Amino acid sequence: MDCLFCKIINREIPADIVHEDDEVLAFNDINPQAPTHVVIVPKQHIATLNDLEEGDLGLVGRLAYTAARLAKERGFADDGYRVVMNCNDQGGQTVYHIHMHLMGGRRFTWPAG
Ligand code: AMP
Ligand code: ZN
Repeated sequence: MDCLFCKIINREIPADIVHEDDEVLAFNDINPQAPTHVVIVPKQHIATLNDLEEGDLGLVGRLAYTAARLAKERGFADDGYRVVMNCNDQGGQTVYHIHMHLMGGRRFTWPAG
């Protein structure tokens, strides 16, 4: 399958991996927008949030749980951080394999741009 994140999961292209378990892979974003900017992906290919099925709900919980764990490990969980899932063109999605951005280590503004 011609999917960038599946290729990273299958070790066909390199990435700076920071966490892996049976269901999830997390790696540093190649174009970081914060001191910590990690992309957390399910190993199962799901193109967009719109393609989620009821059986996938645990997977999304695992993305969020992994984000919080990494934030705690890196010491900015209490200060705060930003998690983002972009969906489709107007949402800013560029890689069509669902992922959660974890960004931390600086203050974020709201609303997002
Ligand atoms: P999105 O725009 O929400 O689809 O996010 C895709 C993210 O993947 C962007 O923040 C990119 O910088 C990041 N990205 C693209 N290619 C790579 C790569 N080879 N390794 C790590 N991150 C990447
Ligand atoms: Zn994929």
